[in-house]
Amino acid sequence: MTADDPLQPYRQKRHFGRTSEPEGGGRQGSPEPIFVIQKHAARRLHYDFRLEIGGTLKSWALPKGPSTNPREKRLAVPTEDHPLAYAEFEGVIPPGEYGAGTVMVWDIGTFRNLTEKKGQPIPVEEALAHGHLTVWLEGQKLRGAYALTRFKKAPDESWLLVKKDDDWADAGQDILTSRPESALSGRTLEEVAAGGRLETG
Ligand code: MN
Repeated sequence: MTADDPLQPYRQKRHFGRTSEPEGGGRQGSPEPIFVIQKHAARRLHYDFRLEIGGTLKSWALPKGPSTNPREKRLAVPTEDHPLAYAEFEGVIPPGEYGAGTVMVWDIGTFRNLTEKKGQPIPVEEALAHGHLTVWLEGQKLRGAYALTRFKKAPDESWLLVKKDDDWADAGQDILTSRPESALSGRTLEEVAAGGRLETG
């Protein structure tokens, strides 16, 4: 029985003989959970926001990417769980395969769960199930607190990612254009695309 395998949908969508995305694996038991934001030039350009929760990367697609401006509410649409190893995947998914296009690690780091209710800390998995999550990001580009809130349930489940108003909030810049480079390799999206060769961590 593999009914509880959270990565089954991820594996079912992909042919691992053709794409060099990881089939599974990845670091586990690191002292702090990781987060990653991948810029994904698929049929439509978007960013994928992923948080290490319960041994996999919980994932949301951000059509407009993240923002450091607390007044910018960014749509976050849940997608399938990804293996932890995916956090360091940067390369090209071949034409015809699921998610075909270039994937670049735009930001990577660790996060802390700050979710609380009436002053009491809420475990991250519970917060996720409730649809209210506050996380502190320690990335190379994004820092500080972000709220992730579900505002619409399935079948069109939708969340919003919003910067909290703290010292790391910045309404005066668009960090997507001021810091376009890979947090992993320093390359531009175009350089990753031209590199062609798939990184395998
Ligand atoms: Mn994607």
